[in-house]
Amino acid sequence: MQVLHPASIADALAMLAGGDARLVAGGTALQLEWAKGLPKPRSLVDIGQIGGLKGIVPAGNEFRIGALTTLGALERDATVREELPLLAAAIRATAGPAVRNLATVGGNVAGRTGCLLPALLALDARVESSSVVGRRTLPLSEWLRQEPGGEIIEAITVPVPGAHVRWTHRKIGLRAAFTPSVIGAAGIIEIVDGRVAAARLAVGGGMVTPPRLRRAGPASPCLRRRPAVSRRRLERFAGGDRGRDRRAGRCLPFRPLSPQGCGQRPRARAERR
Ligand SMILES: Cc1cc2nc3c(=O)[nH]c(=O)nc-3n(C[C@H](O)[C@H](O)[C@H](O)COP(=O)(O)OP(=O)(O)OC[C@H]3O[C@@H](n4cnc5c(N)ncnc54)[C@H](O)[C@@H]3O)c2cc1C
Repeated sequence: MQVLHPASIADALAMLAGGDARLVAGGTALQLEWAKGLPKPRSLVDIGQIGGLKGIVPAGNEFRIGALTTLGALERDATVREELPLLAAAIRATAGPAVRNLATVGGNVAGRTGCLLPALLALDARVESSSVVGRRTLPLSEWLRQEPGGEIIEAITVPVPGAHVRWTHRKIGLRAAFTPSVIGAAGIIEIVDGRVAAARLAVGGGMVTPPRLRRAGPASPCLRRRPAVSRRRLERFAGGDRGRDRRAGRCLPFRPLSPQGCGQRPRARAERR
């Protein structure tokens, strides 16, 4: 197997078009494939030396994350932890620290089953990619529905959620963080006047490419049934008593889902209030 080192996206695309070649970034997912005995390509196109594919750049109310940015770099970035706590939680639940220092966000998305995908879908992320046909930017949910292949992901753009947002992230795997998920779920609920104004939920896991659960939106009966939070809690989210840390209450994890589902409090606890 030969390893090629293109200096530009155009060179990399030309090398990929040349036949039995695979793109490689951190190589950690490919390593798992080969450990399972899947065939190795004749050439690996290592995109690690292409400029402009690394880094986390704030752009207005969103972050543009270069495809070669490692999960470790994202995990250590204080702004990401503060502004995108859902993504930070998904990263902490993906692989172990040593793997996260090699694994890239582009590789996780390109694999179409990565543990970051439910969180990125809930956050309404977009994918910037190039192919021989040109460049394009698509919502991640749409990008995942396209036929795979022939594209290089350049960046993932993630909007920062609004002020009154609650989020959840659950991963069920064979181990908490060291193996890909059996089931992974992430959700964001935007609350306006104590009611659910927007909801984005996504579920994936195993070999399944996660979809956005579009029918589980704010109009779904289980989210409509009752106000999402008490007025006192909503005022706290809005920053009323958050003088010390304005953002501390901005995105709070849900309580674990009740057996009845739909994120409602178990009846006994709800009635005590
Ligand atoms: C011990 C171990 C534990 C792991 N645990 C998890 C886990 O819990 N959850 C999880 O999701 N994953 C896990 N993985 C898999 C892997 O670490 C991650 O999915 C990682 O983010 C993949 O990124 P990479 O850069 O290493 O991808 P690579 O292995 O380099 O590539 C993966 C795939 O994406 C393609 N690709 C890479 N970059 C691009 C790009 N920019 N554009 C287009 N295609 C691209 C490659 O051709 C290949 O098909 C684990 C791996 C190991 C070894």
